Parts: sequence; structure tokens; C-alpha cells
Amino acid sequence: MIIDEIRGSKGVLVGHRAIDRIGEFNLTATPQNYEVWLHYVTGWTPDLVKAVDKSIAKGEALSDVRMEELHEKYFSSTQLSTHVVETGNRIAREIADAIDALKSASNTTEQYGATLQTASNTLSSNVLSGEALKRVASVLSTATNEMAAQNETLNTRLKQSSREIETLRASLQAARAEALTDGLTGIANRKLFDETLRNRVLEAETDESELCLVLCDIDHFKSFNDRWGHQTGDQVIRFVAGSLSTHALPDHLVARYGGEEFAIIMPRTSLKTAVQISNSIRSTIENKKLMRRSTNEPLGQITVSFGVAEFRAGESISQLIERSDTCLYDSKHAGRNRVTSDVQIESNAA
Ligand code: GH3
Ligand code: MG
Ligand code: MG
Repeated sequence: MIIDEIRGSKGVLVGHRAIDRIGEFNLTATPQNYEVWLHYVTGWTPDLVKAVDKSIAKGEALSDVRMEELHEKYFSSTQLSTHVVETGNRIAREIADAIDALKSASNTTEQYGATLQTASNTLSSNVLSGEALKRVASVLSTATNEMAAQNETLNTRLKQSSREIETLRASLQAARAEALTDGLTGIANRKLFDETLRNRVLEAETDESELCLVLCDIDHFKSFNDRWGHQTGDQVIRFVAGSLSTHALPDHLVARYGGEEFAIIMPRTSLKTAVQISNSIRSTIENKKLMRRSTNEPLGQITVSFGVAEFRAGESISQLIERSDTCLYDSKHAGRNRVTSDVQIESNAA
């Protein structure tokens, strides 16, 4: 549908309007800038239109950097994957409906067969109605037999299709889960993190609710790996992921952000609670006596540093991540194994 709006001469005019904006704001004529303005002039992405209008109203410079930010926010590749995932969901729902339809069609044909069979039985047994009636009965009986045979074939086919669609649906669901899960730890991967953070930020902005982002990173993990080997390192990464998941609340999202870095998105959670939860995780990990699985040797103390930031209305996702990351860096700088937030609400227990 959207393509129709930019087809032919009308489309050329729309394209010109987008290019005019690139000239008007003295921007570089990149495909990304064109995409942003095309969506602006057509109004396809209302949130983008609002964001641009807001910038213009505030007299902010619509520079290439700002354009890049807008493009990242509204058209990054993860948005594409979200779209694919959502399409997958829709297909799954439609398939579920189709299965129901097939099942009820199957019931109907079975019932139809049974009804004909009853009529046929009645007519066949009515010997008092003469030769003509007998002939009718015979025709009906033949028709019934044919119908019954047809029904059976149809039923077999429907049952087979049902089974196939059911398998397809299960594999689609498994593919979706796999595409968004980190293979080593089983928690959310970066893709799901990006998608979820985008949605939670939109929600927090709309509801004016609290939203916190926790970033954490295993301390001195390089030397741990050097000493114990990558496989044992992986065991630690799994343990840390498990500890985060155990302490996070049900609507929090725990994700593997990078190699030995993790994130928790905490919607409707105050900074104070986010810091408290982070501290519980930090202390659980520091107190765990980990053993090397293969040899049962004690692995010594593992510690993790945390950075916590609360979303501020109007800031970009990258600004929020940057503030959490700065806090994490401060934790590292101050000696590691601690929780830092940029609004100091309580002392950092170490
Ligand atoms: P810091 O306390 O400053 O974070 O020090 P660090 O040594 O943890 O930091 P650095 O970033 O230098 O090292 C991170 C290490 O994490 C390097 C890399 O070998 C290890 N790592 C990253 N991903 C994995 C993984 O999937 N498995 C294992 N075993 N190690 C990983
Ligand atoms: Mg790191
Ligand atoms: Mg580290």
C-alpha cells in the first residue's frame, strides 16, 4: 500500500519534497537522510514526524548527526527484525485459526456422512413403498457410499494438513525464541534487548512511568580466562546470567549485552529499587564459592561491577545507555565490585 503512494509521477513529487528538505537543512544526500525525510513528508512514521517537528520548534539544528540519531531510532536493523518477528507471530496466529477451521470442516463432513447414512438406512428398510422407492433407496445408498468414501479421503487429508501446520507453527515459534535468545546463557540476546528497550522507553514516555537500565560487567575477566581457560570462563558467564535472572523481577528483561557484559531493563522500577536489586546480585555473586566443574578446584572470588541509570523524559536511548555505561565505568574506576548510579541515592556497598 505504501509503495502505491510513491509510484509514478505522484511518487516523484514526494521524492522531490524529501530531497528539498535535504537541501534546505544543508544535509548530506545519503540514503538514510532520504529515508528519514521520505517518512517525514509522507507521514508514514508519525513518531518520527513528531520528533522532527519538536526539533524544528525548539530551533535545534537538524544536522547529519541528528539525522543519524533519528535513523538509528526509527529504522535500525533491529526494527526490521522486530517486523519479521511480528510477522511470524501473525502467521502463527493465522495458522492456528486455519487449524480450527480445518477441524470444524472435518467435523461437518463427518456429520454429513452420518446424516446421509441414517436417511439411507431408513429408505432401504422401507419395503412398503414399492419399486420406485427401492430404486431411490438404492441410488441414495450408492451416493451415500460414495460420499462416505470421499469423506474418508477428505478427513485423512485434513488430518494430515493439520499435523503439518501444527509442526510448522511449533518450528516458527522455536525459531523466534532462538533468534532472540543468547545461545550460551539462554537469556535474551542483544537483539531482544534493543527491541525491548525501545518499547519500554516509548512506554515510560507515554505513561510517565519509571524505567531503569542496569549494565554490568564481570571484573578482571580476561585474567580469569587466562588462568582457567575459556570453557571455565563460559561456566562463570552462565552463572552470572543465572544470578541476574534469579534476582530480576518478572517484568524485567535480563540480557547478554556483550561478551561478559549484561543488562537488565527494569520498567516501572525506581532507581532505589534498581540499585537494591543490583546490590543483591553483586553480593550473591561475590559470596558464591564457585568450583571448576571438571576438577572441583575452587575458582576464587568472582565479582561484577554495575552502573544504574533512570530514564529521563526526552532523552534518547543511546543517551540512557551512555549514562548507565558511565556509571559502570565509575564502578570499575572506584575499585570494581560495586554499584554506581548517577543520582547517588545510597552509599555503594562494596
Ligand atoms: P574489567 O574488570 O575492566 O572489566 O576487566 P576485564 O578483564 O573483564 O575486561 P576486558 O574487556 O579486558 O576483558 C573481557 C574479557 O572477557 C575478554 C574476553 O576473553 C572475555 N570474554 C568475552 N566473551 C566471552 C565468552 O563468551 N566466554 C569467555 N569465556 N570469555 C569471554
Ligand atoms: Mg567488558
Ligand atoms: Mg570485564
